[in-house]
Amino acid sequence: MKRLKAFDNLVEALESLPTIGKKTALRLAYSMAVEDGFGAMKLSHAIENAVNTIRTCSRCHNMSEDELCYICSDGTRDSSKICIVQSAKDIISIEESGEFGGLYYIINKLEYLDNIHLRKMIKDVDEIIFAFPPSIATDTMILYIEDKLIDTDIKFTKIAQGVPTGIGLDNIDSISLSRAFENRIRV
Ligand SMILES: [Zn+2]
Repeated sequence: MKRLKAFDNLVEALESLPTIGKKTALRLAYSMAVEDGFGAMKLSHAIENAVNTIRTCSRCHNMSEDELCYICSDGTRDSSKICIVQSAKDIISIEESGEFGGLYYIINKLEYLDNIHLRKMIKDVDEIIFAFPPSIATDTMILYIEDKLIDTDIKFTKIAQGVPTGIGLDNIDSISLSRAFENRIRV
């Protein structure tokens, strides 16, 4: 029998979040439910607002609060370079490194790749940079995409090795990521 049903539900919900273990979930739930109810209500409102507001940029699939994300609508970005990443989280990491001033395109899974959409996006582009963490799966994606665009004269590059295999870009520090961009190689 559950004696503290609402509290246990909160712990369970917190524990289901990435990086949160049982101990942290208990500590957070106690802080929210007992120590700081006001802060907890503010958090709850912020979550609801973010979930309802954030959508996908129609151009690059980045997180956005409008039709176009802040990067796609920034006229000062270099539109001749497109960096292909796997998730919006990677865009955050790359932006933090400050190394890249072009535009992005998110391709999560090959089965979701919309060829016509991608082609529209790469009009006037002279370099496509793949910023994928190295793995057999991402190498296959690079080959596949390159093959789809073989009739263009776009230069294909990927960020340099040194980015460890199987690790997401969000786990790489800004300096290493910035170096990986600088030393990108042709594919
Ligand atoms: Zn965008």
